[in-house]
Amino acid sequence: MIFRLYESIRFVPGYNRTALLDLSREKILFLPNDFAEVLQKMNGKTRLEETLELHFPENHLEYLQFIEENELGFHCTPKESKRFDLLPLEWKNPAIITNAIVEVGDDINLDHFKWLAALGCQNVELQVVSETGLIKTLEFLNDSICKNIVLVYKNPSQFKFKHTTINKRVNETHVFDATAISVSDSTVFFHPYAYDQRGLVPSSTSFLAVNLTLYLESIGHNVYLHRKLFIDRFGNLKNAPETSKTIHKGNQAIDLNELTKRIKSDEFTNLWNLPKSEIDVCSDCEYRHSCVCMRIPKQRPDKTWYYPVECDYNPYLSKWKNERNYRNLMDSGVVCTGKEMKIDQVKLDKVFNEVWGE
Ligand code: SF4
Repeated sequence: MIFRLYESIRFVPGYNRTALLDLSREKILFLPNDFAEVLQKMNGKTRLEETLELHFPENHLEYLQFIEENELGFHCTPKESKRFDLLPLEWKNPAIITNAIVEVGDDINLDHFKWLAALGCQNVELQVVSETGLIKTLEFLNDSICKNIVLVYKNPSQFKFKHTTINKRVNETHVFDATAISVSDSTVFFHPYAYDQRGLVPSSTSFLAVNLTLYLESIGHNVYLHRKLFIDRFGNLKNAPETSKTIHKGNQAIDLNELTKRIKSDEFTNLWNLPKSEIDVCSDCEYRHSCVCMRIPKQRPDKTWYYPVECDYNPYLSKWKNERNYRNLMDSGVVCTGKEMKIDQVKLDKVFNEVWGE
């Protein structure tokens, strides 16, 4: 009999530990890197128990129990094993644009949503500037291909009622700067801080997601920018609110063919195929296939990539900013700037031992 890992189990090695993504149960577990390596090597091999005992004489039983309790794999004959297909690791979607952010003012141009439909876009975030414009838009989207609508209120006084009465595809509503308001509705989220002060990075594990689509897309793409379009209230078009390049000015005429050409241009898509595994710091982080952050990566003269804004998670210490003993990158001996990326291993080891109490 051989041991076979389920195809939905994926390993993401980080600097200190490996994240095990269970894509069917949509949960994340953590393993020591050495255990994760042995476990992956055992996939399709015989004698799992003996191999674990050989590598981890002290805690092999604990590891075996971990494998069984979390149902990471199963035993079968080599013939049976061939009946299970490998997971295709390719992200495929026929849409040119999969997700859009649209600012909705009084004079919203509903043609923008016709464009989005023609581009295949089924996920739209509406940033509400005007209630009148929003109602018009939601009514219009009732007859569109759009499947998922998220509402964002930067001004809490504009939030009046549940918009699912107009359009049942409103799945989430976010109200910012909203300390005084409360309603009991699990799809409405009140944030006590202003929209502009929301974090550009996840601030705890609750901001992370484990699912097959995100995992596959994150292998070869920047999951925030990939196939995204932002339309501001004046009709100007960019990749995302945080990017600088405008591909169309709202006061100029454009047809769908020309717009599609501009969206497909290298200039517009140049960050789409830049996964976190190619960006410094994130490339060492075990969350790189579970995390969406809104920071825009920058390239150094030597062609390597980095983020100018530091994340709230330090993968070299496995600590979040809100956790006890957190230290930022610089204080851990890690330098990640527009000039270089370097790790002072002696300092990092010392800080790691201080933080983890060894
Ligand atoms: S370091 Fe990168 S991959 Fe890790 S949590 Fe932060 S943004 Fe996500």
